[in-house]
Amino acid sequence: MKKVLIVEDELNMVQGLKDNLEFEGYEVDTAMEGTSGLQKALHEKYDLILLDVMLPEVSGFDICKAARRAGVNTPIILLTAKGEEIDKVLGLELGADDYITKPFSLRELLARIKAILRRAPDLKQGDAESEFVTIGNIKINFKNYQALEGDSEIKMSHKEFEILHYLYNHAGKTVHRDDLMSSVWSIDYDITTRTVDNFISKLRQKIETDPNNPKIILTVHGVGYKMIADSE
Ligand code: CA
Repeated sequence: MKKVLIVEDELNMVQGLKDNLEFEGYEVDTAMEGTSGLQKALHEKYDLILLDVMLPEVSGFDICKAARRAGVNTPIILLTAKGEEIDKVLGLELGADDYITKPFSLRELLARIKAILRRAPDLKQGDAESEFVTIGNIKINFKNYQALEGDSEIKMSHKEFEILHYLYNHAGKTVHRDDLMSSVWSIDYDITTRTVDNFISKLRQKIETDPNNPKIILTVHGVGYKMIADSE
């Protein structure tokens, strides 16, 4: 049974979501303010987190950021209010996987949840060990979202793995920013090329020996990026 954490301070919303998700067959845990939400996100195992942005004590953004920094790569859907459009980009850059703007229809939310869970790795499946590929000095397992440099783990967000995976699948070819955006993000995101560039810059910090002189993810000026996966 897939387990979902709802972090949301509006009681009606929490109860409505909990009832409906349980009806759909999910196991549901809840937190009604940021502090306990963060604790649960960090210390318990979930398949998905629904995270309200405006919360008492600790904001959804801070929870998202702290969870990713701690290596928690559970998919996160942000619940944003109307008028927080600017925050969506920030949320995605902080490592959220998707967002949905209140008021939203339950059907839409369920569709987003299913889409994300379909893409997410099922860690219980095992057989992941032989799935490592080498990119530069890094070993990456796209199935269980693991990146290793030697024996030490490199912390990467879900989105960063997906971008890397897309570039890897197209290694040696120029990838247009637009293609990257529409493949890694849902079509209805109004993310900008700047968001993509920011992600690439963060990835370079993590996988390049010299991020200012990248050898793995090259910039193709005016177009996009190209991965050289077998750089020695
Ligand atoms: Ca709220």
